[in-house]
Amino acid sequence: MTAIINEVAGWIRKYRSFVITSHEAGDGDSIGSQIAMAFVLQAMKKDALILNKDPVPEIYDFLPGAEKIRTSPNRKLEEFEAGIYLDCGSTERTGLTIPDTVPCLNIDHHLNNDRFCELNWVDAGMSSTAEMVYLLADALSIPPDTSIGSNLYTGILTDTGCFTYNSTSPRCLRIAAALVEAGVQPSQISSQIYGRKKPGQLLILGAALSNLTMSEDQKIATILLKGEAFERHGATFADAEGIVNYPLTIASVEVSLLFKEMSEGFFKVSFRSRKKVNVAAIAEHFGGGGHRNAAGAKIKGNFTLILEQISKAIHQQLANPLP
Ligand code: 5GP
Ligand code: MN
Repeated sequence: MTAIINEVAGWIRKYRSFVITSHEAGDGDSIGSQIAMAFVLQAMKKDALILNKDPVPEIYDFLPGAEKIRTSPNRKLEEFEAGIYLDCGSTERTGLTIPDTVPCLNIDHHLNNDRFCELNWVDAGMSSTAEMVYLLADALSIPPDTSIGSNLYTGILTDTGCFTYNSTSPRCLRIAAALVEAGVQPSQISSQIYGRKKPGQLLILGAALSNLTMSEDQKIATILLKGEAFERHGATFADAEGIVNYPLTIASVEVSLLFKEMSEGFFKVSFRSRKKVNVAAIAEHFGGGGHRNAAGAKIKGNFTLILEQISKAIHQQLANPLP
């Protein structure tokens, strides 16, 4: 691993100006790792612009440097010497276009990554892209201050489900501890992220939980949230983040599925599993992707038929587990 980190560090040293991006609909890890990366480059006296398709979700607006994220460039992208994609498995997932004349670096921890850059550091053994940016900053001899630290801690915290997922490794816990030593305040970050909810978020959670259905064998829990439920409660898709995790608290449940209706016959499906089932493989089959135990896809079709297909794939894996 050290060899690739040093190669990435060497690559970064070569250039002076960078455009940083990530996947659309940013989450704690994509937002946190991008801002931290920009601070690291700034500390190296380099020029960095963060360009995303979507603005920073309100829940992450407290992060130091959140104002760095732009949704339109301040100059031509061709003028940047280099591009950095963080937490992003494919160029399509960015929802925007960075010219391929700009040499690029790809840092990601997703299982399915297209390795679309000239240099790709993809490691599914990492809890988060933030963990990778921490290791990179270390290789670049940039010690994390509280600004870098708060962003990296947020990425690790959110992508490990508050240190509960299988990806919670000794290394990621050590890094979290080092960030706290550097001045990060875990209780403040947790209350910013998890303690600033709006009524709509709790109302949509209530609607979701009362829509829960179980498969006959009690191993698959499914929630369908129709567009009208979001309208009724004045809630957005972002307000429904985290809901998919609740059904996994039922003892028998191996896989939790959340269908959010984007439009008639078009769903954003979130998959969560315990250890056994590789949901990234199933999401991939529907054009999506993600991690072994947390994945997503946008799927067109009839809800009942899609659910049947997904359930079949889950039962196949339960009978014949993937390695
Ligand atoms: P969520 O269900 O929270 O939206 O996403 C869970 C995981 O699946 C995240 O790691 C995310 O990157 C991945 N994911 C979600 N939606 C998509 C998608 O449409 N395409 C791909 N490739 N990955 C997705
Ligand atoms: Mn991530």
